Amino acid sequence: MARSVIALRSEPAALAIPAARAHEGPLADTRGRVLHDLRISVTDRCNFRCTYCMPKDVFGPDYPFLPHAEVLTFEEIVRVATLFARHGVRKIRLTGGEPLLRKDIDRLVAQLRKALPHVDLTLTTNGSALKAQAAALAAAGLDRITVSLDSLDDAIFRRMNDADFPVARVLEGIEAAARAGLSPIKINMVVKRAVNDDQVLDMARHFRGSSHVVRFIEFMDVGSTNGWRMDDVVPSAEIVRRISARHPLVAAQATYDGEVAQRWRYADGAGEIGVISSVTQAFCSSCTRARLSTHGHVYTCLFSQSGYDLKALLRSGAGDAELDAALTGIWQARADRYSEIRTAETARARKVEMSFIGG
Ligand code: SAM
Repeated sequence: MARSVIALRSEPAALAIPAARAHEGPLADTRGRVLHDLRISVTDRCNFRCTYCMPKDVFGPDYPFLPHAEVLTFEEIVRVATLFARHGVRKIRLTGGEPLLRKDIDRLVAQLRKALPHVDLTLTTNGSALKAQAAALAAAGLDRITVSLDSLDDAIFRRMNDADFPVARVLEGIEAAARAGLSPIKINMVVKRAVNDDQVLDMARHFRGSSHVVRFIEFMDVGSTNGWRMDDVVPSAEIVRRISARHPLVAAQATYDGEVAQRWRYADGAGEIGVISSVTQAFCSSCTRARLSTHGHVYTCLFSQSGYDLKALLRSGAGDAELDAALTGIWQARADRYSEIRTAETARARKVEMSFIGG
């Protein structure tokens, strides 16, 4: 085996949970960013082995995925999500790993919907099981869905997911989600130079005029296993230029403060695209996201090296007041701005894997 899987799972010790300070009004971090979104990773497993996310030579048959007992239960997830909502979270995204691999995920959606009727509840999936599950997810109360799809070319897509999974089945999943009303559907395409960047225009064209929104994502240095190099990043500005040369685009207003994607509308009214420029135009200053990992740690940045062990508190019988204080202290101490200070050096640092804390 080329790389040590054990080293990957031996995460640095969890951070000590900072003491909470009294505050009035919205919960803000050291840079004035107000907590708004929560991403919840419901499983660290995935049936794809995307080369930029869970490369096969690391996440192989021997990879020590979390044992069942370490994974947060639905009841624990709902409890934490409810506490986060009390502190201002208005948007929750279920992710992973591949969230549709988590058994009875629609039951979790129903429980979250019941506990938090007004929260915007979404999910990011690779689409492989979406055809079978879209109707149940919608019935359970999911508002919208994001589907990852890196190419419409079957050979390129199979190569990138490294699980020989065909494009056609993801497209069927997207259709099923649209029929179930999980719209507007977002399609995430990670763009890697000389791997799929020649697919950008095809992707834009395919979904132009549908109500789906393709979002082109810069290849990021998440985790420590994807061999990231700046040379492989296709800047969003280049993507916008390429699409706009054929189908003119005009910049559109963000829907809300802290929106990750920059929106661009087709000038002829055929819908919109988004670009996510975490590498070339860092958006740390407006990042309002907390992350809850599969094993119940809270991370305050996608590029964190370690998190806060909330599960230990939960399972030690902590009451809501103690958990509330923990969440408050964690957010108040938050100072992360990784993407603003990224260098070749930081890109090589050991960071927690995206499949673990949720993309
Ligand atoms: N399995 C689900 C999926 O495929 O959408 C959810 C988890 S996945 C980690 C979430 C998103 O992160 C996907 O859209 C994926 O393409 C994106 N992603 C993973 N690794 C990335 C990287 N190195 N750079 C940019 N985006 C990445």
